[in-house]
Amino acid sequence: MQGFSKRADFLPFSRPTIRQVEIDEVVATLQSGWITTGPRAERFEKEFAAYTGFPHVLALSSATAGLHIGLLALGLRPGDEVITTPITWAATVNMIEALGGVPVFVDVRRDDLQMDPRHLAAALTPRTVGIIPVHYAGAACNMDLISKVACAKGLWVFEDAAHGVGTRYKGRHVGCDDRLGVFSFHPIKNMTTGEGGALVTRDEDLARHLRALRFHGLEKQAWNRYAEGGTPQVEVILPGFKYNFMDLQAALGIHQLASVDEFNARRRELADLYDRLLAEVPEIEPLALPAYDHFHTRHLYVVKVLESAGIDRDTFIARLRARNVGTGIHFRAVHTQPYYAQKYPRWLGALPVSEWASERLCSLPLFPLMSEDDVQYVVAAIRDALREGK
Ligand SMILES: *Cc1c(COP(=O)(O)O)cnc(C)c1O
Repeated sequence: MQGFSKRADFLPFSRPTIRQVEIDEVVATLQSGWITTGPRAERFEKEFAAYTGFPHVLALSSATAGLHIGLLALGLRPGDEVITTPITWAATVNMIEALGGVPVFVDVRRDDLQMDPRHLAAALTPRTVGIIPVHYAGAACNMDLISKVACAKGLWVFEDAAHGVGTRYKGRHVGCDDRLGVFSFHPIKNMTTGEGGALVTRDEDLARHLRALRFHGLEKQAWNRYAEGGTPQVEVILPGFKYNFMDLQAALGIHQLASVDEFNARRRELADLYDRLLAEVPEIEPLALPAYDHFHTRHLYVVKVLESAGIDRDTFIARLRARNVGTGIHFRAVHTQPYYAQKYPRWLGALPVSEWASERLCSLPLFPLMSEDDVQYVVAAIRDALREGK
């Protein structure tokens, strides 16, 4: 290992930014006597609505919960086909499947791994009901092209914006160009509430239906029904779930949201540095940035380990780990996961770009608390790992 010295501590691929202000708010929440859905959750929803510009926000236990009740509220029925990308977290596809829907995959573009809208038309059938685009890695999807197809065919669009807090498309926050969108606040995302997510919509009736689905099917949702002046009587209007968002989560979320632009700006600085340094490592190809007008938050720094590296992705990951660098895989193409490969074998081999990328992609460490030196170290570790040969 000439010229390279291994750092003493492990650099994880992601780490949440939790400061004293979040800790104090959590403690204050614990001491307030109200820890589940209450005044802080309500405040968080208002602030998230103000930040994104979408009038109706439902904070939830996770983005997966949002995909579940979102698809239900959009009326997904068994046998309905939903178009999405294979390069997403399994939750996107699992929720289609859980409701008896049929996932239909559209291959991604080789350079930025976003769903390729040129293939949308070929994926349509008489059973197609909607499209779930995924704003992958913090970039925005090409919503104009997607909406054009959706409008022409009368399909809904439900945006998976799990990576998208802060992402803008043509100046507008992503999430709800059409009917519905969902965000995630899982610890690796742009901002975190531990676990958590949010649905956004402009449709008031849809929002009302979703609120009932979120919490036991209750029509009126006064969190303070046990408080003085509240009424303990409730009415169940449908068989709902229990996907509500706790004040303990909101305690984190309020301060995370207030800083998310700062977090994203820091991600962009670090990602730019990676771009500059990796330009001299031709075997490792970073994601391209889409050319259309959008604001990319650089949520993930995904690279592809090209054939010219002479080693496969898993060897690359093992060598980085041996040099105290953590990585992630975002994502293994969902149609190659055992459940989907067995149930829908027709997709195997039919999505060549996704399958190629699925074998070669890997996420390098990127989080706001990282230093420039950490980025320099990762790139030095990559060069050293490649020098090791086959
Ligand atoms: C993280 C993620 C989800 C699920 O989010 P949770 O809040 O963990 O349920 C869905 N889709 C994508 C693309 C994700 O990355």
